[in-house]
Amino acid sequence: MADMLVTGGAGFIGSNFVRHRRASHPSDRIVVLDLLTYAGNRASLDGVADVSFVEGDICDRALVDRLLAEHAIDTIVHFAAESHVDRSITGPEAFVRTNVIGTHTLLEAARMRWLSGDARAPHRFHHVSTDEVYGSLEPDEAAFSETTPYRPNSPYSASKAGSDHLVRAYHHTYGLDTTISNCSNNYGPYQFPEKLIPLFTLNALSGKHLPVYGDGMNVRDWLHVEDHCLGVSLAIDRGVAGEVYNIGGGQELANLRVIEEICRSIDEAFAADPSLATRFPDAPAAQRRATAELVQYVTDRPGHDRRYAIDARKAEAELGYAPRRDFATGFAETLRWFLNNEEWWRPLQERAAVAR
Ligand code: NAD
Repeated sequence: MADMLVTGGAGFIGSNFVRHRRASHPSDRIVVLDLLTYAGNRASLDGVADVSFVEGDICDRALVDRLLAEHAIDTIVHFAAESHVDRSITGPEAFVRTNVIGTHTLLEAARMRWLSGDARAPHRFHHVSTDEVYGSLEPDEAAFSETTPYRPNSPYSASKAGSDHLVRAYHHTYGLDTTISNCSNNYGPYQFPEKLIPLFTLNALSGKHLPVYGDGMNVRDWLHVEDHCLGVSLAIDRGVAGEVYNIGGGQELANLRVIEEICRSIDEAFAADPSLATRFPDAPAAQRRATAELVQYVTDRPGHDRRYAIDARKAEAELGYAPRRDFATGFAETLRWFLNNEEWWRPLQERAAVAR
């Protein structure tokens, strides 16, 4: 049983993790610390039993100290971050503050709490990071492994790289029991509609353009969020202190292939269920036109990484990790979730548009 502090637990992956862990480890005690930035949403935890929610900042050292003591926390699972690359290009400061200083605040609080006495009680600091720290791959280059050198290209990935290095240093220097997971692009329920898959899905339902960066041939290794949560949970339970685990879905796809799948699935869903045309009358599919007509090519993001791919063999061999869905299955589930949970995403569409 763990007494767990989950930072960023009202965000996309954090909220999925809390649901996953609540179901897989019912006796864990879970405290969520989340600042509820534009990307955080209390409603993403609706219906999850026995979770203490604290609205607050990971940079607030006094608050973090108090939570670690009051709840006798022995496990920190650190998701909280500024996470959108486009925003890091227009406003990098928030990324340095939350991703670097926030992670350092948590590490210091953990060190003081867990390592300052004579007896070192068992503890774990799991840091959730990204494959973007490794930079961009050429088409024929081998996938990122845990020993691939860091070459972050955006302020987002540079701030995540900084946080990874701090976690590594706190293990190496102070003996803090840390693990890190670096994972590929996630998609699934509760994803804020500024990221590619929910943005394109919801735009398609509203008859809005699907803005494709550049030539649409940037390749990502797509991972269903529940498969990611499984990998994080395994790293917490079975990972070795000081180790890094890459978590991927083994589903390398160019953005255009992802968009084709979104358009095809939406066309099929409307053909199979006539009530969707009434609920979403502005969707081309409501008039039996192809969703793909909404695709519009736009100027590429500056410094856009061309290809990411994850070699997850270490997590498979050492943690027993295996993703359970391919992209077609995972996206079909995700589309069904968005169609069935309009009350969750409707209020966020305006927030996403204003914030962008
Ligand atoms: P998200 O943007 O959906 O959620 C981030 C959460 O952190 C939000 O709930 C937000 O309110 C909270 N937060 C932000 N600043 C905070 C602060 N100062 N104090 C407390 N809470 C704060 O992000 P996500 O997509 O769920 O990503 C979670 C983690 O996974 C991040 O560390 C990200 O780098 C990593 N990651 C994400 C992906 C992906 O595809 N989304 C892929 C690899 C790694």
